[in-house]
Amino acid sequence: MAYKIGYIDPSFNTPEELIMAANLIPYRIFGDPTIDLMDANKFVPPNHCFWARNCLQRGLNGLDKEIKGIIITHACDCSNREYDIWFEHVSYDFYYYLNAPLKRDKLSLKFFINDLKELKFQLEEHFGVEITDKKLYEAINLTNEIRKLLKKISEYRNKGLLLGSEFHAIIKNAYKSDKKDVLHNLKEKTKKLENKEPLPYIDTSKKRILLTGSILDDTEILKYLESLGFEIITDDLCIGTRYFHHKIEITGDPIKDIANFHLSKPPYSTEHPSSGRFDFIKGLAEKYQVQGVICLVQKFCEPLLYEYPFFRDSFKKIGMPFIFLEKEYKRESYSQLTTKLEAFKEILRGVKK
Ligand code: SF4
Repeated sequence: MAYKIGYIDPSFNTPEELIMAANLIPYRIFGDPTIDLMDANKFVPPNHCFWARNCLQRGLNGLDKEIKGIIITHACDCSNREYDIWFEHVSYDFYYYLNAPLKRDKLSLKFFINDLKELKFQLEEHFGVEITDKKLYEAINLTNEIRKLLKKISEYRNKGLLLGSEFHAIIKNAYKSDKKDVLHNLKEKTKKLENKEPLPYIDTSKKRILLTGSILDDTEILKYLESLGFEIITDDLCIGTRYFHHKIEITGDPIKDIANFHLSKPPYSTEHPSSGRFDFIKGLAEKYQVQGVICLVQKFCEPLLYEYPFFRDSFKKIGMPFIFLEKEYKRESYSQLTTKLEAFKEILRGVKK
């Protein structure tokens, strides 16, 4: 049986390739919006991010048996503090807190490289494996190939041949499964899409949007947006574009290459200044000619709330319709957003495609 390492990482800085080179499967832990949070609420106050609390509840309920260790990667204060609670109350022999830097400069790169080397050492010691450069590059080539295919598949959203929610489910699966299976499935999906006939008409009632926000790991929320008449043409989500936008450049030092990759990806909301993230979103919005930007935020998500005034003013300046909506991490609450989203759709009626 192939064992897995579960990781909690709202901004995706966890080096999947390092885990793969240790003969383990990286398994990104997502929440489950259908579960009750009774136990997690005993450990954290109710104004702590819903999503992080939900992941804790999943841990307390018990994860898959194949998961043999947990990595929690530095992102926001909420997820960081989860490490201490997991360590005390969710029983695993292997725990690692990966201190991914939120700044991007030479010193941060050096710091991150050192921490990745420590993670490599701990994985080798605990699991009795040797992580060689050869194994690391095999893993890097595999994930680069996956990113390339995901990039290709993502374009079918813009051609009207793939729903944003379908694509979201594909990426979510890529985060949780054996990467060799992922590659095989993506090749199959690409073949199917290449042979798919375009629709003979354009549905003018649908509104082309870019989706951004906190971690959005429930595919149902994308389906809900689609049910209201929004077409998710592009996104800047970690379960989306941020996963495949860049590839790992190979220079001969695999740990440094992995660190460089993570520090040069499009920035997440936990990283400052926010202008880099805004510029990236603006670039995508222009490239895909979307009519508006929807920012869906998990309730009590501090990084996104902090960033909101800057985003509101910046989108206003460029004349791009933008809506910021806080949501609870419960499916039955999604419909509470309907009135605001319908009103936003009305605004987009006047915006050219
Ligand atoms: S949703 Fe926001 S507060 Fe919650 S873990 Fe993600 S970044 Fe942190």
